[in-house]
Amino acid sequence: MMELDQPVSVLKGAGKETVESLAAIGVMTVGDLMEFVPARYDDMRLKSPEEAAHDEKVTIEGTVQTEPSVMYYGKKKSRLTFKMLSGPHLINVTFFNQPYLKKKAAIGETVTVTGKWDRHRLAVSGQLLEAGAYSRGSDFEAVYLLRNAIPLKPFRKLVKQAIELYGQFIEETLPTRLIQQYRLMERKEAIRALHFPHSHDEMKQARRRFVYEEFFYFQLKMQALRKTIREQSGGIVQKYDLAKLKSLIDSLPFELTGAQKKAVNDICADMKSPYRMNRLLQGDVGSGKTAVATLALYASVTAGYQGALMVPTEILAEQHAQSLHDMLAPFGLTTALLTGTVKGKKRKALLEALEAGEIDILIGTHALIQDDVVFQKLGLVITDEQHRFGVNQRRVLRSKGENPDVLFMTATPIPRTLAITVFGEMDVSIINEMPAGRKAIETYWAKKEMLGRVLDFTEKELQKGRQAYVICPLIEESEKLDFQNALDVHAQLTNHFHGSFSVGLMHGRLNSEEKDQVMKAFSSNELNVLVSTTVVEVGVNVPNATVMIIYDAERFGLSQLHQLRGRVGRGTEQSYCMLIADPKSEAGKERMTAMTETNDGFVLSEKDLELRGPGDFFGRKQSGLPEFKMADMVHDYRALETAREDAKELINDPAFWTDSEYVHLRSMLTNSGVLAGEKLD
Ligand code: ADP
Ligand code: MG
Repeated sequence: MMELDQPVSVLKGAGKETVESLAAIGVMTVGDLMEFVPARYDDMRLKSPEEAAHDEKVTIEGTVQTEPSVMYYGKKKSRLTFKMLSGPHLINVTFFNQPYLKKKAAIGETVTVTGKWDRHRLAVSGQLLEAGAYSRGSDFEAVYLLRNAIPLKPFRKLVKQAIELYGQFIEETLPTRLIQQYRLMERKEAIRALHFPHSHDEMKQARRRFVYEEFFYFQLKMQALRKTIREQSGGIVQKYDLAKLKSLIDSLPFELTGAQKKAVNDICADMKSPYRMNRLLQGDVGSGKTAVATLALYASVTAGYQGALMVPTEILAEQHAQSLHDMLAPFGLTTALLTGTVKGKKRKALLEALEAGEIDILIGTHALIQDDVVFQKLGLVITDEQHRFGVNQRRVLRSKGENPDVLFMTATPIPRTLAITVFGEMDVSIINEMPAGRKAIETYWAKKEMLGRVLDFTEKELQKGRQAYVICPLIEESEKLDFQNALDVHAQLTNHFHGSFSVGLMHGRLNSEEKDQVMKAFSSNELNVLVSTTVVEVGVNVPNATVMIIYDAERFGLSQLHQLRGRVGRGTEQSYCMLIADPKSEAGKERMTAMTETNDGFVLSEKDLELRGPGDFFGRKQSGLPEFKMADMVHDYRALETAREDAKELINDPAFWTDSEYVHLRSMLTNSGVLAGEKLD
């Protein structure tokens, strides 16, 4: 494909200036020009006035009925008008600043005009497309987003020239089998149709081909990366003790759900294999991921390795450390907690024990990735709420062992389309089943004026001995934002429940010891109500809390609301979530309604994606979400899934690595670095 790599300057009309303008929009080579995707198409089909919508661009043919008159105004401005008969309609035609067209529009002549249609005045204003009947080039004209770098017409001409001269060198890149299976347009043909479609159908077919191609390339890289990570990194074979693992499972106070069993099986199979595990464990809050993680860690220890569990907050680290200790100490395991608050001698002793292999499982925050934290034999790394940790933090933790198996857990249900793109190189286990006997949380949406009733209801729950969370978007009063703040609400509620119930306060500005004290007091029901910002969002477990009140709930996204709601409903009692919100936007109303309608995090995440779009889903741009030129992850998700399956199959087909048919795809993989195990760009 060397010919396509030639600079655009080989084209006629591409002088120095044009070459520079094209470079500004990322077009360097002839191939770039051909792959420049149109933003939209103008419909150039002849229309009768009845068919045209108001303000739409139309192309109309007719015969001139009146002598054109030209009116001059301003400095160099002019307006040429005449009446034209098109079918039964007499149409008013106006051309601006083209007085010379007068000659071409003599009475009785057939002309084709194109411009904006005014349905009320039966008028079209624009330009003369052709003197005489319209000889059609293409029905649809590609319009490009050129950011003023170069005008549309010369750009189109260059594209045309490029295709005429070099189109013959375009080679097919997709496997023939897939082209046939999905009846996709050949690449050469599709490039032509992309820019100069003869029909609406061609336009669609070209797009369909490139959407599939984009997804397929992307998934091929993902699958190649997955294969590289698995096979070339020399994972460890962890021969765990199945009998011991079973006895731990038997000791649990509950029966594992089917989904938990499947996840444990997936994970254990990965650990036992010579491949390095790179797996994502997705499951709604309370679905029992921690139990699965504990079993996996235990398995690793029975195989003679150490395990690490990294979580994003100290509170969570402590809770996990406690529950892991409770479960595993009876089986003779030593667990330890390492956070920023573990310092001095205690820390030193802990690190020594870790390096000597006396600690089996280390639980902690990002304190785990400090340089002096050295394991004797790290076999399994688990990170919780993984998208809160940067790629680098995860890499550092992983590097503390020799290719340890890695499991990422997340309680943020990610829509499948996003999961297979963002985490495409990972294997995914999903816990989509709640432990039996859990009562669904009842969710209500209340306007602010109903706050009194919400508090009355809460008081009844408190009288039964239950506890309540009250979430506010802000810590303190803000001049810019008119939202409830935790300090004020804490003062109000302290006053409201004065003498009967105690109200605690929690927010991100407390230091970790203060946070710790508050959490402990709430855990032990010393505090009946906890006013907090969203710091309690992640993983906190107080089963006796049955009420979750969220102030200014419209302020939060669906995923976050769902996370917050997940703080209740963790015990055996019926729990409630009350959203206090007066949303102004339709999307805000839809979010509140969605929350009252379902408790299923995956359903909500799909809804969230629909309301916010893929770019905003993670709240940040650096989410690792790829940008596609033509494809749309939400609309084209079927093509995405199909491309994924096809890519997976091809990567695992030995012929792919040798057959000449795939030479382009192989070099694409080599160039993108995925075969060296590098992350995608
Ligand atoms: P997650 O980490 O997914 O939020 P946890 O593992 O913390 O969920 O589980 C939430 C609660 O449910 C814990 O108290 C845990 O002991 C309990 N639990 C976990 N699995 C089961 C199960 N299969 N049956 C009943 N209770 C379970
Ligand atoms: Mg392994």
